[in-house]
Amino acid sequence: MDLDPETDEPEEGTLNSDQDASYCCWACGEEIVIPIDPTMGARQDYVEDCPVCCRPNEIHVELDPHFGDVRCWNDPAE
Ligand SMILES: [Zn+2]
Repeated sequence: MDLDPETDEPEEGTLNSDQDASYCCWACGEEIVIPIDPTMGARQDYVEDCPVCCRPNEIHVELDPHFGDVRCWNDPAE
């Protein structure tokens, strides 16, 4: 692949501190995008009301510190 001489921003090595993840609400099916805060830990579980239909979703977040991956899934919390 070609290197663009006009872009000299390094894009590797830095842990992105404002990652997003998304889940689909179990009740209305809307895709909800949530910001991930890596400082909250590698494993996060919390309940959040869907901003569309206001049903509670139990959110599970797993961070992989080696690859920077974010996994996010949800269960009905009702
Ligand atoms: Zn919903």
